[in-house]
Amino acid sequence: MTANTAPALLDLAPLGAGHFARIEDKVAALMRTRETVVAMQGEALLPLEACIRSAVRPGSTALNIITGPYGETFGGWLRSCGAEVVTVAAPFSGAVTPGQVAEALRAHPAIDFVSLVHAEAATGNTNPVAEIGAVVREHGALLMLDAVASVAAEPLLTDEWGVDLCVIGGQKAMAGPAGVSAVSVSARAWERIAANEQAPRRSYLSLLDWKERWIDGGRTALPHAPAQLEMLALEQAVDRIEADGLDGVIARHRAASAATRAGVRALGALAPYVIRDEDAAPAATTLRAPDGIDARDVVAAALAADASVPVQAAAGALAKEMIRVNHYGLDADREVVLASLAAFGEGLRALGVSAADPAGALRAAGEAWDAVIAG
Ligand SMILES: *Cc1c(COP(=O)(O)O)cnc(C)c1O
Repeated sequence: MTANTAPALLDLAPLGAGHFARIEDKVAALMRTRETVVAMQGEALLPLEACIRSAVRPGSTALNIITGPYGETFGGWLRSCGAEVVTVAAPFSGAVTPGQVAEALRAHPAIDFVSLVHAEAATGNTNPVAEIGAVVREHGALLMLDAVASVAAEPLLTDEWGVDLCVIGGQKAMAGPAGVSAVSVSARAWERIAANEQAPRRSYLSLLDWKERWIDGGRTALPHAPAQLEMLALEQAVDRIEADGLDGVIARHRAASAATRAGVRALGALAPYVIRDEDAAPAATTLRAPDGIDARDVVAAALAADASVPVQAAAGALAKEMIRVNHYGLDADREVVLASLAAFGEGLRALGVSAADPAGALRAAGEAWDAVIAG
């Protein structure tokens, strides 16, 4: 063996139970919850599916709120658990309203589970969880929230909002790893899960396994070898946010959203896909391609002008009309936003769209960024 060439990611001391529990506690503090937080050893789709399969059974009536692609995924899981599913959908250009949720709950008193996505990185919209949470709590249903694209990009007050099952991942605004995630589980949710004979047990999808084999024993022995590298990366991501200040990280994301929207409006030709500023997710801004031009061509032209900008075409049915600017994590940055707008300006000119005003876009974006940061 060659001396002094130990690879940095190998041969680490094992991640012990105490350290694992401390990482969970740091994540709980970030999520503003005093309920149990379980660090799940997989990407965030793992706890999202685990929550639904654990809390929902035949005989359940679930309200699934669809404001983007993840809500559509949840509907499939809910049905496969045997639930009757009531759907409330909002256009991807806006948000669901608390009134729509209240109306669905009144029309279907049997609803005992509600699934909601806080912010959708894929469609660029965000939902008013505080108000929706109050309506759901009054009705008495459990509330599951997908906060993967909102944590660290905008306020996330898990307990105050009455969220029973809150899922986060590190790969968006936290600028952390994608391979582990976390879920908070309220006491009410644990009761429901424990009473569900269909809840996964002795399974990778089992929340109850973690309760019985980890939490109830005082978190002194891990049930199996943890995803050590990803857990350490998650801890570093949380530590960095705490060191920078969560409020400052959130302000950077708000500024990135405000600057992108103001810049695009001044640029012309493109338009924010989400109509109202208050419905726009701070993590990512979606744009509508000019009439008659494919969004994928705009993205390709922008990337040809500057390959470093966090710009992509939407997936699936929206690919022709929607462009995403993923200004989350380290890309929630003034220079990155300005570079993205400059790339759109150059790209549109290359496509022969002459109406665009790149200089005006940069000026408007810079002013909007500074106004948010100045508070
Ligand atoms: C990004 C994201 C996830 C995680 O999914 P990936 O496929 O890993 O990107 C889950 N929910 C929401 C709302 C997200 O934005």
